[in-house]
Amino acid sequence: MPTVSDCLFCKIASGAIPVTRLYEDEQVLAFPDIRPQAPIHILVIPRQHFASLAHTNAADSALLGHLLSATAEIARQQGLAKGYRLVINTGPDGGQTVDHLHVHLLGARHMGWPPG
Ligand code: AMP
Ligand code: ZN
Repeated sequence: MPTVSDCLFCKIASGAIPVTRLYEDEQVLAFPDIRPQAPIHILVIPRQHFASLAHTNAADSALLGHLLSATAEIARQQGLAKGYRLVINTGPDGGQTVDHLHVHLLGARHMGWPPG
């Protein structure tokens, strides 16, 4: 699996940095966000390093589809029957701070719109 040695989320995926693993399979891993913005705030990442969603292309469609369907399964496991918000911050204008593709799963409170 391609990893980047100084990437925080690659280190989490490899186990070099321990986290509470809420869900994992061959392709993706989920763990709690360290600075939760909702009662449930989970990060779902591919094990493979992509700097952002903008660094993926059509060849990654199966993995991206799995990332989303795994996130929906995690939401079900977390009991988020009333709904939830998914966020993929991408690049500087998107507010991305960790350069490894990740889906924010936010739930257990009402989400406002428009986002900040
Ligand atoms: P983003 O700003 O979209 O790139 O999201 C990065 C997220 O990673 C932020 O919500 C951080 O709180 C979270 N984060 C940073 N370091 C860790 C860590 N060691 N464990 C869990 N979450 C982290
Ligand atoms: Zn990485």
